[in-house]
Amino acid sequence: MSILDKIKKFLPKRKEPDLKKNVLKEKENIRKTFSAYCNANHDTKDEKLCPKCTALLTNVMLKIQRCPYGMAKPICDKCETPCFGENVTNDFLKTMHGGQKKMRFSHPMMAIRHKIASLGMDYAKMERDKKSTDKQKETEEKAKAKIANATRSPKSLAKSSKAKAKKKKKK
Ligand SMILES: [Zn+2]
Repeated sequence: MSILDKIKKFLPKRKEPDLKKNVLKEKENIRKTFSAYCNANHDTKDEKLCPKCTALLTNVMLKIQRCPYGMAKPICDKCETPCFGENVTNDFLKTMHGGQKKMRFSHPMMAIRHKIASLGMDYAKMERDKKSTDKQKETEEKAKAKIANATRSPKSLAKSSKAKAKKKKKK
């Protein structure tokens, strides 16, 4: 057994990310944001939502339960492949964006956590886009090099090697 393995034994094992917790947190955040929005715009109080918001929330909650991302679940209002359908997604985003402003006062910690997660997703997307453009450049350069090699005639290569040999002899 190497020293590294011995050290590893004493270190705490890395915890597996908790899928259920992720989804639960996201649901809680969405529920609170919906309440904040509905309370402010539809004349309701606390957890009680108007019929329209209730229907929308129920719909969204059902879909989240079947979120295909699982372990790597992103936050729903930043999802690139929203599973709610176009109309519901539009209503959902409108409610979330409206409610988020209210959340800063009613649930500041939750709002901050959500903001951090949202920034994290923006950053991840930016990094991914950067990587893909880097790869594109790489393949373009490779293609150019191939063309340059193909157009260089074998004769010119032979000449240059002869010239080099002559230079060596002079020395
Ligand atoms: Zn409402």
